[in-house]
Amino acid sequence: MKARRFFEKLEALYGDEQARLNELDAAIGDGDHGSTMLRGLSAAVKAGDGSQAKAFMRASGGASGTLFGLILHEIELHLSGSERSLAAHLGRSLQRIKELGKVAAGDKSMVDALEPAVAALDAGGGTSDAVSAAEGGRDSTRDMAARRGRARYVENAGKGHVDPGAASVCLILGVLAGEEE
Ligand code: ADP
Ligand code: MG
Ligand code: MG
Repeated sequence: MKARRFFEKLEALYGDEQARLNELDAAIGDGDHGSTMLRGLSAAVKAGDGSQAKAFMRASGGASGTLFGLILHEIELHLSGSERSLAAHLGRSLQRIKELGKVAAGDKSMVDALEPAVAALDAGGGTSDAVSAAEGGRDSTRDMAARRGRARYVENAGKGHVDPGAASVCLILGVLAGEEE
């Protein structure tokens, strides 16, 4: 799949999922996660080849825009003919997100979906294995208390609610996997 097609498919998917993601974020944050992602993706689709992830970062803005931009940047490189594997690319975004976000597995964030997905790819799995692993990680955030981001400040640090960023990681990887079948 070409990077352009990936961003177009992802924008269409977020058009459908925006409201649901905003609802997840309303429970433990400020209710804008779906809208923020869609705004960035619409800018990415309008940008030239090779600058889609950068356009996403600029348009979505804020910390989460940068953190998701890191994933999208590595996927963009992967789909633009890089010789490194998807596992290597996503592994790099995972490291950068943990550093920049000062977040670890178990903190109730996007990392809880991305880390098991990278582990599945490192173990030789394909993208559909990565999606399954990410979905398991996403579901595990429901019982976690947040140590980063806005969810820290809500009742019980968000316990009882799935992390919207972890849900987003599943959508992003799902588009990658869907194209390979
Ligand atoms: P904002 O919190 O600025 O409104 P979004 O609603 O777009 O941003 O995204 C929220 C998601 O971003 C969270 O569900 C979480 O997965 C992720 N996130 C927020 N802060 C961090 C952080 N410091 N490290 C890693 N992920 C984070
Ligand atoms: Mg938010
Ligand atoms: Mg916000």
